[in-house]
Formats: sequence, structure tokens, C-alpha cells
Amino acid sequence: MSAKILDGAKIASDIRREVATEVASMAAAGMRPGLAVVLVGHNPASEIYVRGKVKACEEVGIYSEQHAPPETATTDELLAVVEDLNRRDEIDGILVQLPLPPHVDSKKVLMAVDPAKDVDGFHPVNVGFLSTQRPGLVPCTPAGVIEILKRSDIPIAGKEAVVVGRSDIVGKPVAMLLLNANATVTVCHSKTHDLQAVCRRAEILVAAIGRAGMITSDFVKPGATVIDVGMNKVTDPEEFRRLFGSGAPAREAAFQKKGSTLVGDVHPEVAEVAGALTPVPGGVGPLTIAMLMHNTVKAAKMRRGSGQWSVASGR
Ligand code: NAP
Repeated sequence: MSAKILDGAKIASDIRREVATEVASMAAAGMRPGLAVVLVGHNPASEIYVRGKVKACEEVGIYSEQHAPPETATTDELLAVVEDLNRRDEIDGILVQLPLPPHVDSKKVLMAVDPAKDVDGFHPVNVGFLSTQRPGLVPCTPAGVIEILKRSDIPIAGKEAVVVGRSDIVGKPVAMLLLNANATVTVCHSKTHDLQAVCRRAEILVAAIGRAGMITSDFVKPGATVIDVGMNKVTDPEEFRRLFGSGAPAREAAFQKKGSTLVGDVHPEVAEVAGALTPVPGGVGPLTIAMLMHNTVKAAKMRRGSGQWSVASGR
């Protein structure tokens, strides 16, 4: 048996096309959505992520601007940047790129973002809206997981779903979204007993762990849908061989040339057992930016559109 590969890149490009159409009609009505990205200092990985987000905005027609306070910026200075963006009507989404420098109180800065502009969906007000099924902004990667399932016609209601990982940014919101879609959900973590047996119950298994290839075929019920959120950089040739053996010559050549490869939390052998599987790269990853674009449009509509969104009421 060989799993159906769920093409996240194609799904993400469909979503971006839909968003671009929405943005064009909103702009024609004088309501072009706008996203502000705050990038503090010079973290190379963060710079790459932010470039990707700004480029995606350009492609779908969303107005974007970048704020680049220096590495030495204080918590108070960053609060002032956020408060200014909160006040500006043409800014619908505010994204504070993490991690912030260690001397900054990150929680305080994130809490200062107006929940109506919190396109990352991390603010406790949006977390509360998600858990009580009220309209709000949903974290991008977890929302992307659900889009992949829905757009691949994989039923969720009534299914046994297991999420491995309980972080605030991936595991918990994925679990909540699956529950809201009427799955029966189990959330696992590093203290879960007999993780393999729990995972083997899953008809939908979501891995959000941060450990390359940890989910081997022993964890997977034959025919299950497996969603691999993990993004791990592998540089050790031994590790590469454990994951791919000699069965991926093109990837091995690229690994040797570059010295690294990006792998998920799911071992490639799972493709022989699962019914459907997201690849890494090209699975969940592309959905994250697509859902950020979607969230920016949603924030603009909820805050400025006809059905104005008030954070106090959640409607
Ligand atoms: P995280 O905050 O480090 O959380 C990892 C979770 O996995 C924790 O709940 C941890 O349990 C659990 N865990 C760790 N080792 C385990 C083990 N041996 N058995 C069972 N559970 C274990 O990571 P995250 O931010 O959620 O990210 C997870 C992965 O998704 C990472 O690879 C990350 O790079 C990737 N990611 C991808 C995207 C994307 O766009 N595709 C976006 C975000 C994150 P405890 O709570 O008990 O410690």
C-alpha cells in the first residue's frame, strides 16, 4: 500500500488565488487589507520568514509594511510600535516575528496586539474564541492542517484523531479545531504512556513534535491519514541514512551538495502504511503563509466590513 500524497503546495496556491480575488474586490471598494510585520534585530531565519510573508502579500495584493526596530529595542519601545499599529485604521493585521531578543518581555508585547488585528491568532482572546467556537482569528499552521483535510475530502466528523504535541502554537489549536469539527481527539506529549498504541488508534494522526522521523510505521494504523507538521533540519549523514536508506537518490544528492535537508516528524517509511500523508517539504509548510494572507483578509472584513467585529462581544 502506498499513501496518497497530499499536495500542500497546490492547496496553498489555490487559497492564495482565492485570497487575491477577495483582495481585488475589497480594494475596489476602498478597503485594501494591510499587514504590518515587526522584525526586531537580525535573526537570519526570521529575516527569511518575513521576506516570504512580505512577498506573499505583494502577490495577493495586500498592502504590507515592515518595521525593523534594532536588536537593542526595549519592551517599552516595542509596545509603542504595537500601540501605534493598533491605532492605524489601514493596518488590519499585526505580526510580531518571534523570537524576540531575550531581554524583551515577549508575552507582554504579544498581549499588547489588538486581538482584532492578531493575525497569528496567539492572543488569549482569540484562543478563548477558538475554544468557545466564536468567530475570531485562528493560528495559521493549525488552520492550514484543517484546510488540507477539508480540501482533500478527508472526513473529520466522528473520526478518531490523535495529535502528538501540545504547544500553544500548533498542538493545542490543532486539537481544538479537530474537536470543533467533531472529531474525537486525544492530545499526546512527552509524558504520554505507550505513545505508539495511542497513535495506532488514530484515523487522523497529526505529528507536531519537532523530532525528525520519530513517527515510524509502528505508530500508524493502516490506511490512516497522517499530517506531518514537523520541520527539522537534518545535517548528520547517519541520520539521513536512518530516514531515507538508499531509496531517495535525488534527495541524497541534494543533501550532499547542501549539507542539510528538511524533514518532518514522520518517518518516510510511513508512506507504505498510511492512507494519505503530507510530505515535507511541500505539505503543511506552504499553508502557513497562505493562511496568514487569509487571516489578514478575515481581520479586515471583521473589523472594517459590514459585519463589524467587536472583540468585547466576539461577534
Ligand atoms: P514545541 O513547542 O517544541 O512542542 C513540541 C511538542 O512535542 C511538546 O508538546 C512536547 O511535549 C512534544 N514532544 C516532544 N518530544 C516528544 C516525544 N518524544 N514524545 C511525545 N511528545 C513529544 O514545538 P512546536 O512549536 O509545536 O513545533 C512542532 C514542530 O512543528 C516543529 O518541528 C516545528 O518546526 C514545526 N512547525 C512547523 C510549522 C509549519 O509551518 N509547517 C509551523 C510551526 C511549527 P511536552 O509538552 O511534554 O514537552
